[in-house]
Amino acid sequence: MRKVVKFGGSSLADACQMKKVVDIIRADESRMYVVPSAPGKRFKGDVKVTDMLIRCYEIQKRDVDEGHAYFYHIQDRYDEIISGLGLDFSLEDEYREIHSAIDEGMSEEYLVSRGEYLNGKVLAAALGYRFIDPADYVVFDAAGNYDENRTVEAFYDVDISERFVMPGFYGAAENGRIKTFSRGGSDITGSIVAKAMKVDVYENWTDVSGFLAADPRIIENPAGIQEISYSELRELSYMGASVFHEEAIFPARSEGIPINIRNTNRPEDEGSWIVPDDKITEAHSFITGITGKTDFTALSFEKDIGSDRLGFGRKVLQVFEESKVMVEHVPSSIGTMTVLVDDKELEGKEENILRRIRREIDPYNIKVEHDLALVAIVGESMYGAVGAAAEIFRVLAAAGVNVKLSIQGINEISCVVGVAEDDFETSIKALYSYAEACNRARKLIV
Ligand code: ASP
Repeated sequence: MRKVVKFGGSSLADACQMKKVVDIIRADESRMYVVPSAPGKRFKGDVKVTDMLIRCYEIQKRDVDEGHAYFYHIQDRYDEIISGLGLDFSLEDEYREIHSAIDEGMSEEYLVSRGEYLNGKVLAAALGYRFIDPADYVVFDAAGNYDENRTVEAFYDVDISERFVMPGFYGAAENGRIKTFSRGGSDITGSIVAKAMKVDVYENWTDVSGFLAADPRIIENPAGIQEISYSELRELSYMGASVFHEEAIFPARSEGIPINIRNTNRPEDEGSWIVPDDKITEAHSFITGITGKTDFTALSFEKDIGSDRLGFGRKVLQVFEESKVMVEHVPSSIGTMTVLVDDKELEGKEENILRRIRREIDPYNIKVEHDLALVAIVGESMYGAVGAAAEIFRVLAAAGVNVKLSIQGINEISCVVGVAEDDFETSIKALYSYAEACNRARKLIV
């Protein structure tokens, strides 16, 4: 058995956390390939090293000397970890390299990636593992997009029997220019290493014991999710569950590698297992989770009868696409097409979109409704279950909630309902107690 283990910033924030990480890795021989993030927050109000580096870049742009001075604070973070671990090791050469890069006017991505780079060096020294720089393996194309085929090829020359540490979050284009993933992107690196090294398990260590079946800010003490399929996770994470980077699912998923979310501060907890859709086990709940998000707007367009209906949907969506507004859902009827959009996407663009649609498509009628919330009930077991949708509506009706719209795809993995924002928490609470009862009874109650 071979595993890749990725540790998030809070797991590596200081020497005490780093010691836990070393113990976790040493406790299991199969934990062979290690992907660290940069040091995260040590306490509430602390600053993550990645944020310090972003700040350092801004400062050195204005004043190079101040940039150097600020970088010394970042060095202190690493030096504290090194001395706390009692390592006979120093990062002086690496610091020197970074100071000269500052003098030469390096790119922001280069400087920001140094958080993971330096942390990888420290962890490799603490473990006595080989250090591998992702700049030589994780390949980005000329347009700056991650190139999976070339990355997997690059890994061919890594010996599977050799233990290594590879920093997360970055790689490089062919010209050597450092490229970073989006924030939280070390999860993606972990998944890439999992795929490229064809491991049996990808362990992702963080500061919670896996996913919760609902948001603890709304539901007191929600149950943990023991097992979740890749597809269920997609449904839940797009609605805002943020433990694991959304894009990190894909490399591991393409190889069918299970992902285990674990807690560095409670290593005895089993955490959550993300498994391929066709490998769900007895541990799977009937309803895996309830999630939701507020601040949606619905824009409804009434179609004319007749030939103008042909291509109507495409034309409407094209206006959104050209306005660079991501569309969340498009529930429609014969007569109307509704476009659901996150308010953040729509900010400052609504008027322009409506003007263009009026001018170019001329719908019979337009209606805009703000302050909507979407609530999703997610569970593979709803597939083919007679009465599942009826139960969801019954539960909401009993809680006095008006369902404004509903969306369920043919795979029946999730049912999404749109409610007024004022009904958001009531809906989540009502659906959560229903889900809990189903899971206790191990069947959908109808
Ligand atoms: N250090 C990066 C961030 O703070 C990447 C990561 O932690 O995954 O976003």
